[in-house]
Amino acid sequence: MTRRSSSPGHPLAVLSRPLLAVAAAAALGTATAQEGQGTAVISPATVALTDPGRLLQGAADMTLSPAVPTHLLTVVVNSTESATQISRRYGVAVASVRLLPSVKGTRSAQVSLSPASRERAPLWPRSVQPYRVRAGDTLAGIAARHGMRIVDVLGVNLDRRSLDRVHIGEVLNLPTKERGVLVRIKAGQSALSLIAGYGADLAATARANGTLPTEMRVGDALLLPGVTAAGFQQQLLAQRVAEQRAAVAFDRQLRYERFLAQKQEQRRREQVAAIARQEQYERFLAWQQSAERQARIREYEAQERYEAAQAAARQRAQEAARLAAARPVVRASSAGGVSVQRASTGAVRLAWPMRSFRITSRYAERDIDFHRQVFHGGVDLAAPYGTPIYAASDGEVSQSGYGDFGLNVFVESGTSTMVYGHMSRTAVVSGQRVAQGQLLGYVGCSGICTGPHLHFEVRLDGRTVDPLALLP
Ligand SMILES: [Zn+2]
Repeated sequence: MTRRSSSPGHPLAVLSRPLLAVAAAAALGTATAQEGQGTAVISPATVALTDPGRLLQGAADMTLSPAVPTHLLTVVVNSTESATQISRRYGVAVASVRLLPSVKGTRSAQVSLSPASRERAPLWPRSVQPYRVRAGDTLAGIAARHGMRIVDVLGVNLDRRSLDRVHIGEVLNLPTKERGVLVRIKAGQSALSLIAGYGADLAATARANGTLPTEMRVGDALLLPGVTAAGFQQQLLAQRVAEQRAAVAFDRQLRYERFLAQKQEQRRREQVAAIARQEQYERFLAWQQSAERQARIREYEAQERYEAAQAAARQRAQEAARLAAARPVVRASSAGGVSVQRASTGAVRLAWPMRSFRITSRYAERDIDFHRQVFHGGVDLAAPYGTPIYAASDGEVSQSGYGDFGLNVFVESGTSTMVYGHMSRTAVVSGQRVAQGQLLGYVGCSGICTGPHLHFEVRLDGRTVDPLALLP
């Protein structure tokens, strides 16, 4: 990049040897030689001094005159320079330059700066150029491509927060000439204070920035040549290490939390499963003890008993019938009649205990009547109240009165027993001998009964058999 001798927008951005001297001189005094505060008066004694090291010894040579309202700059000039030349160099009108009487052979001039010249855009060193980050760029890559170290790039990008993070499209600063540190002059600072603070070379700084440090102010960018951002790089390196450690720790924490969550989820599922098992078990217990199940069990048991009894009764009846058919005997009945008796088994040929009736329930039939809810041990013969009931066989009355079947009569004959139940009235007494066909009593509905009928039951050796198998 070439340095221009003048700039219309920035009349002060003009450099020459004497000005550098002035700038150097300004560095000797207070660091607040800022615009608007007054005139920096540079003592002629400092004019010839260009070595910053030596200049630093003469701080008392610069004074400030805050009382002067306009922005006046007193500069040392060559003995041959005219006001026109001076005005051209500063980009101001000739009228703005006032040559001062020489003191001890040193000429100086007072340059009055126009207010417009003070309302300028913030300065920026021309050697620092923007660079737009492209895909695949890294700080190291950018530095290498431009033949510089990362620290040189960092020096002009002190606002970086990371050594690694660059984003496509963002703009970085790149030094094209002097390597150094680029700082923005903040409130309370001045170029001179920064130069002193960083230990930069005054003249080199003036050259690098293309302007006088004394003319720089808050908001201007100041390139401090020869200063490296090693500390800053170190700081970013440490930060990178810390970030990597934090990332590792974060990742570890994340994995641990995921592990914990997994464990908790597993425990929760186990609890849910345990509760479900417990509930299932309790439901089972409740069902096991439930009236419904008990009823069902009783029903099953009753059914079994019923089926077993039915099977046994059928077998006995068949057996009795078979034997009766095989060996018929004849004997005289007590009533004088003749009845056929198959004596070998004690089974008898019976007579119907009523003249007129209707069979409402057969032997072993399950029905709604209470006494035959499980097993019906006889036959039910329905007839009107008072219908006479006769003995189905000879025998002896063993019971006449209230019993298992209401008002009932039991007649024993050998090993067999006839039961006549639910009578309204009996016509015999206990111990009395009766003959087949003899009146025993009358139909009723005593005991557990739903309508007038005779419950007729035949027991052989204490077990019921189907009476119909023995009746004509
Ligand atoms: Zn009955």
